Amino acid sequence: MVVQSISVCWRWIGFFFCLIGLGACGDASGRLPPTITAMTYEPLHPGNKIVVTFELDAEDPGGITSIELFVYEYALTEDEDGMRVGKAREGGQWGSVETWSISPPKVTESVSYKYQSGFPPESYVRYIFQVKNSAGYSRSEEWLFAAGDWPFPDTPVPILANGPPGKRVNLTFVADEETYTDAAEMLGDLDGVIFGGYHTNNAIEGDRRRYWQFYYSLEKGQIDDGVLSNGTIGKKVLDVPESVQESRVSTHAALVHKDDTINQNWAVGTKFGTHAEHPRVAVHEAGHAVFGLADEQIIGLHSVSSAPHHNNFSSEEDAKKYNEENGWDRNEVQKIGCTRGKCWWKPEPAELQCIMAVADDKMLAFQRSCIRRVNWYYGQLEPLGPRWLINKLKQQNP
Ligand SMILES: [Zn+2]
Repeated sequence: MVVQSISVCWRWIGFFFCLIGLGACGDASGRLPPTITAMTYEPLHPGNKIVVTFELDAEDPGGITSIELFVYEYALTEDEDGMRVGKAREGGQWGSVETWSISPPKVTESVSYKYQSGFPPESYVRYIFQVKNSAGYSRSEEWLFAAGDWPFPDTPVPILANGPPGKRVNLTFVADEETYTDAAEMLGDLDGVIFGGYHTNNAIEGDRRRYWQFYYSLEKGQIDDGVLSNGTIGKKVLDVPESVQESRVSTHAALVHKDDTINQNWAVGTKFGTHAEHPRVAVHEAGHAVFGLADEQIIGLHSVSSAPHHNNFSSEEDAKKYNEENGWDRNEVQKIGCTRGKCWWKPEPAELQCIMAVADDKMLAFQRSCIRRVNWYYGQLEPLGPRWLINKLKQQNP
């Protein structure tokens, strides 16, 4: 039996017309659609028939006049060819569940809806909020998540998705075996990591949320910084299950722990370790594992960041040259320190407090050179947009 990637094969994938940003409509009059600042659900991967709360924060300078919530329920199954499919669940919810009329219009509005019946085993849920403003423009945003018993244990469980895994950061959380008795126990912490962390950082917030899809592994993993009791460094270990390592969906993995030393917060390749209760760390480590950025401080080993758009240079002249080429004052470079006989510079002035630099627990921003790297990275992903949609439609209707 050929078991294929679920996201590739789900036959309803062609329904993705309403992705973030694509659902917006405005015109040349200067009025814009409303902005959706946050959209959440909880609990993540809800169990069978568990109450699910959907929440939305939106703003519009001219006033929000209405908000509507739509929920679509799919049943996951494997057909006779071994294809994993999601089909509209017979008798399941399919469409509008609630409308909030806002009069007089409000500049900011938050709504919350408790979906009391929850969802049965083997569900996949698509929920959409549509926000309208006083000028008659609207914006929609949609997300998808698994609910109830997950039928494909060899595949990471989608907890916040918006489409096929291509052109996205597909980050799978893996529970540290020493921290959690089972992977589901980690879900309560991931809420803060995703909605209180990734979705609030300037590299990911707003429309950029669409580039990130989150999953978790039902199997646990292991992390060890390799520091031995005598202080010497042994073998570093960051093991994720084969179902994550070999996944055709997951592109990055985060090993989630609660070790209160900073020792287990590190990245190697596309994997990293992060503390469950410190969202800043999760974003910082993703700065390494996803964006290829380097630390803007010296902590032991050091390396140059990835090209193009370095945030870290092994020569002062290279850092100055980078500033010049990018239209910034060449003399704003900062020496960040020396280790093992080699010194390092960042192209940014000291007052720019970057999340790659400061070991602080505040959610700091990526600063100018890092943001150029972030923008370049998303450009490489070829963001979803009208062209993507047109190509997709052409593929379906040649
Ligand atoms: Zn770091």
